[in-house]
Amino acid sequence: MNLLIGDRMNCEICGKDLKGSGVKIIVEGTELTVCPACKKYGSEKVSTASQSGAKRVVIKKKKPSTDIEFKDELVDNYNQIIRQEREKRGWSQEQLAKKIQEKESLIKKIENAEITPDPEVVAKLEKLFGIKLKESVPVVKLEKKSSMTPTLGDIVVVKKKEK
Ligand SMILES: [Zn+2]
Repeated sequence: MNLLIGDRMNCEICGKDLKGSGVKIIVEGTELTVCPACKKYGSEKVSTASQSGAKRVVIKKKKPSTDIEFKDELVDNYNQIIRQEREKRGWSQEQLAKKIQEKESLIKKIENAEITPDPEVVAKLEKLFGIKLKESVPVVKLEKKSSMTPTLGDIVVVKKKEK
């Protein structure tokens, strides 16, 4: 027989109906869901995510084997492409800057590859010129394994040229 319990849960110490307000505590290493009154019998379980105000999003895949994921990266010659596209249209850096509502100095720096443009700026340029400035790059993550060559870094970026 299958019992569907749903939201109904009882305090694991006194047995009272929790009505969805259970508190997770640790009693001698065991996690128990209890009512607020029984909270005092153990130490409250604090989730590390909500603890600090400054949230850091760390995405970590728990896979023991080699992992390949694709990441969008700016193409190497993004600055040349932007300059080319701009000059093709006969625009000055100032004009381009105005079209994407950025500063002329930013365009200058981007075209000189002094800075890497923000994803937001990249998106605006891609849209304006109708081009792609990003490429999908496979990132091979090698977990530290004794069977592998220890000199290999943790992350090896394999650049794939599509064209
Ligand atoms: Zn209780």
